Amino acid sequence: MGRPHRIRYVERFPDFTYFKPQSDSFKKGFEVILTVAEFEALRLKHHERKTQIECAELMNVSQPTFSRILDLAHKKITEALLHGKAIRIAGGPIGIKKLFIGYGCLNCFNEWQDGKASEINKESVVCPECNSKNLYFLKKDMLQQMT
Ligand SMILES: [Zn+2]
Repeated sequence: MGRPHRIRYVERFPDFTYFKPQSDSFKKGFEVILTVAEFEALRLKHHERKTQIECAELMNVSQPTFSRILDLAHKKITEALLHGKAIRIAGGPIGIKKLFIGYGCLNCFNEWQDGKASEINKESVVCPECNSKNLYFLKKDMLQQMT
């Protein structure tokens, strides 16, 4: 049993999650599993070209931990390329930051999302819970956790 990991932040889930060698000798199930966090480490370091310290901050880990995640990603990809294994990107506890736009109610403390929310539109809205017009415009980062 591994010890529980801290949630690693990623900007978004990858668009492509399975790659396999085009070869007749490829055996089904012969694959390496790259975690979503390991993919994010590769993306931040080698595509966004950020420093390890910047990457570590963005992913909510220490710099030595980021270095280990990146190293593991390199090892897995190298193994796949060398031995003709498929690469599957899956799993690992991650958090995706999403923007929450909506309103909050000062009467009942209800908060709800509304894509068209703004300081101006606020005047024409009432709280869906208590019908109060005593509202505030709300914009914040929301963390969506996935495992
Ligand atoms: Zn309310």
